[in-house]
Amino acid sequence: MTSLARSVWKTPEAWRTYLAGALWIAGTVVSVATGEPDVAGWLRIRLDGPGLLLLAGALIGGWNFFPKAVTAVRRRRLDMNFLMTVAIAGAILIGEPIEGAAIAALFSLAELLEAAAVARARRSIEELVRLAPVRARVVTPEGTEREIAASELTKGHRVRVRPGEQVPIDGRVLEGASGVDEATVTGESVPVTKRPGDPVYAGTLVAEGYLEIEATTDAGDTTLDRIVKLVRQAQAQRSPSERLVERFARYYTPAVTGLAVLTMALPPFLGWGTGLEWLTRGLTLLVIACPCALVIATPVTVVSAITSAARHGVLIKGGEYLEALGRTCAMAFDKTGSLTEGRLNVSEVEGIDGTPPDEVLRLAVAVEQRSEHPIARAIVRRALEQGLSAPAGEVTGFEARTGRGVVATVNGREIRVGTPDLFAGSLLPERFGELERQGKTVVLIGENGRVVGLIALADQPRPAAARVLRRLGRLGVHQQVMLTGDHELVAGRIAQELGIATVRARLLPEDKVRAVEALRREHTTVAMLGDGVNDAPALAAASVGIAMGAAGSPATIETADVALMADDLAMLPYAVRLAKLARRIIRFNIVLALGLKLVLAGGAIGGAVSLLVAVLVGDMGASLVVTLNAMRLAQLGPEDVR
Ligand code: ADP
Ligand code: MG
Repeated sequence: MTSLARSVWKTPEAWRTYLAGALWIAGTVVSVATGEPDVAGWLRIRLDGPGLLLLAGALIGGWNFFPKAVTAVRRRRLDMNFLMTVAIAGAILIGEPIEGAAIAALFSLAELLEAAAVARARRSIEELVRLAPVRARVVTPEGTEREIAASELTKGHRVRVRPGEQVPIDGRVLEGASGVDEATVTGESVPVTKRPGDPVYAGTLVAEGYLEIEATTDAGDTTLDRIVKLVRQAQAQRSPSERLVERFARYYTPAVTGLAVLTMALPPFLGWGTGLEWLTRGLTLLVIACPCALVIATPVTVVSAITSAARHGVLIKGGEYLEALGRTCAMAFDKTGSLTEGRLNVSEVEGIDGTPPDEVLRLAVAVEQRSEHPIARAIVRRALEQGLSAPAGEVTGFEARTGRGVVATVNGREIRVGTPDLFAGSLLPERFGELERQGKTVVLIGENGRVVGLIALADQPRPAAARVLRRLGRLGVHQQVMLTGDHELVAGRIAQELGIATVRARLLPEDKVRAVEALRREHTTVAMLGDGVNDAPALAAASVGIAMGAAGSPATIETADVALMADDLAMLPYAVRLAKLARRIIRFNIVLALGLKLVLAGGAIGGAVSLLVAVLVGDMGASLVVTLNAMRLAQLGPEDVR
């Protein structure tokens, strides 16, 4: 255990708890050994040996929450600190010091357990940053090597990383090649090969090779830092269940307190039983009125789930999204780059009206060089392979028309690459339809408004896609819809291969938003998987917007509700499974805490549940079970959901 978790057990509160516990046990043992029952009757406090031990225990343990009780009273609120304080005072006044000390010690212990569980989850995230190296080897402008603190690294530093070392900063590889274990960021421990030009992330581990990298961020602003910051924010957010329980507790607590007062006053007033007997039952009810286990049931689970997910490269931005993801049975998928590889291959380049294909490709490259779209990357790659370069000269006025294509002016000629939408009014070449019917994505290349050629591209579904979708179906995500800007024939072919029944094709970004909104009207909770850049509006329209391969894009990490760091579809069923499990645990915890309280309350009124049992089971026991239950989430990993 590291300092953070240990510290909970070494705080003054903790020491008071241990001392209170020891005094409680000692006092109990002595009073049992001396054979004196401690029922002393009305307001008779025995200040003999065991009595003093127990009184000291109650005061010392109670010191952990007496001040908070005073604050609660000042704010005219009935909180658990106040209830417990009254219960302790009452127990001692009616001559039940064993119970008084027990409440003080056990309630303190329950609070400690909760603090420890939350601290453990927090630490587990902070550990990630602490894992990042503290020293870095930088190359000076003179070409010599110098060691500096990793915290002093800034953008532009040239950094050397040797085999077995960790990358100290986000950067781009300048020289060398190596497998890099990126588990700290993406949750995937299978090494990724990095070559010059590839991005690397702080905290990841260089396996066998040697890398020289150029820092692309300042220290403190790396992907890892961002993850930790966002997880902390997520942990602090209240989830809908938590708010519901808090609202409920606002009625529950006064109601049971009122019942306790009635229990103390009414029966003796009516002449049933003794006043002392009913006072004890009323105090027991006060202890049961404390909503502690009920109130922590949800946040402890949410924090545990969010932390565990982050450690596996799945960033969930708060309990709200966790619960929504656990509830969703409808999911929309973007096609290109999400369900498919997004690594398209150019299959045909054709000229029209005698334009040579090479010229078509060169014109396309001139514009597509500026675009990050998978289609653009495929076209640029093809040109490189053929040794073709863009025509010399200036490229101005570049414009990406999302969902349609790109436009720019090259040497005074306006070049367009994209869907027929960009060429309203011009006649579609016959080949366009032919190639589309083969299930290919076809883009047109136009010069000054005239179509001069076309490029056909083929995209493959990700190998894992069909399995992942089936898996999601088994997890209860039955409604699967593909939304794509591509045309029906390509979309239909891929949907069929993947077993997706519903396809909406030729959607512009705003159509995708409308499609998601329509799904929400039908299913209430709708998740959408897409890429964080092109699909950002649709992701925002969904109840839960999920972006994949977020590690490389700070904007995506910030905007998605759930960011899958790895570019790996298999993380999706893991996230859904975790969210469903979290929801089940939340529900179970709430039912357990509430059910236990109801049973105990009934028992207390009937006189079958003692004050001691109420604290031990209703407070400590319930808090413990609820907390341990939540910690089960840390055990679930992506490998369990393959
Ligand atoms: P998807 O919804 O499948 O991810 P997009 O919405 O990104 O697809 O794009 C829809 C269509 O717009 C593409 O099939 C393509 O025809 C055209 N398009 C978009 N961006 C570009 C680009 N950079 N170059 C050429 N065509 C593009
Ligand atoms: Mg896309």
